[in-house]
Amino acid sequence: MAFVCQMCGDCCSTMGEIISILEQTGTTTFRIGYSATLEERVVTLDPDKQDLFFATSPKTSLACPFLRERAPGRFICTVHQSRPELCRQYSCFRILVLDPAGHHVGRVREGSRHFTTTDPRLHAVWQTGCRLTDIQDEDVWEKNAEEIFTRSGYRVIR
Ligand code: SF4
Ligand code: SF4
Repeated sequence: MAFVCQMCGDCCSTMGEIISILEQTGTTTFRIGYSATLEERVVTLDPDKQDLFFATSPKTSLACPFLRERAPGRFICTVHQSRPELCRQYSCFRILVLDPAGHHVGRVREGSRHFTTTDPRLHAVWQTGCRLTDIQDEDVWEKNAEEIFTRSGYRVIR
């Protein structure tokens, strides 16, 4: 089945650590930088999202500065048309981690072993259990990660 984005915003909810606004260069244009590579580029607010961008704020300080909640629980990128390459390449998750209440609390990006979470306990589980594993086979690595998350009280979707 084709992937359908649920607009949960999880993928962008910790991107504030990577993407930052360096300068507003025009009414709707911004020069942004990536903390990891020191790369810079200019993005422009989508015409139909300008009001939302200026009227609201990102959910948390960790979120990408361009992420906005359009409706309860429905998040959008306000610079979708000019979003960075990094975001264009993103294809959701290969492992989604849920806490006992069913909230999405972490994910491993598709095609990578890059993990993002806002849950400090889960972060610790990842750091000690999965991150530094030397398992080469991707399938075995995924099963191993699932086992570690599950053992720690989380649920995994993959
Ligand atoms: S995490 Fe996946 S489903 Fe949620 S907004 Fe991002 S791409 Fe869409
Ligand atoms: S620029 Fe858009 S797609 Fe990229 S992290 Fe920010 S909100 Fe998400």
